[in-house]
Amino acid sequence: MSEQTFPFNGIEARNIYGVAGPEDGNWILLGAHYDTRPIADRDTLFPEQPVPGANDGASGVAVLLELSRILIPSTLDAHIWLTFFDVEDSGGIDENAWAYGSLKFTESLDRYPDAVVIVDMVGDADLNIFFEANSDPELSAVIWSIAQGQGFSGFIPELGRSILDDHTAFLRLGIPAIDIIDFDYPYWHTTEDTLDKVSAESLEQVGRTIQIWLMETD
Ligand SMILES: [Zn+2]
Repeated sequence: MSEQTFPFNGIEARNIYGVAGPEDGNWILLGAHYDTRPIADRDTLFPEQPVPGANDGASGVAVLLELSRILIPSTLDAHIWLTFFDVEDSGGIDENAWAYGSLKFTESLDRYPDAVVIVDMVGDADLNIFFEANSDPELSAVIWSIAQGQGFSGFIPELGRSILDDHTAFLRLGIPAIDIIDFDYPYWHTTEDTLDKVSAESLEQVGRTIQIWLMETD
């Protein structure tokens, strides 16, 4: 496991990543943000409270941690980084940028991954993941078609909206990147983004799809 630290608004922020698989394989970077928004500014009652982040933060982390548990490094043809980004979700507070951790991460790269898959807000019990409009269309099509093949109804092969997230900095460098995100979540940036709103079955749809894709990628 490795870390990258950098200053952010008077704190030391920290990206964390672990690496597996042969170095000469295709370099696949899987990413999720692990910070949660410091203020629930969409909450009508408690806008000064922090967001618990069961979905907006922890769901993507849960998928990556489970992949780290079930992937067998000796069977991998691809070189895989599991990357946990800090300070994705402080955008618009004190004029902070969104997705600052992944931006700092891309600035530290001296070569570029072949593909990047970000998972964010993938735990909603009512899972509806559309194509994110800025994401690489070819990679999106591959991932969604695997999900369809598994009968995972949470993946909907139709164009959704565009979202600024941890895939953005990679896309700006010309790296094929996608964001797997269900942005239709009523508890987004409220104090009600709690464990009872997310389901293990939703996490499984996303994690299993990525697992199959990784096992098919060399
Ligand atoms: Zn957020």
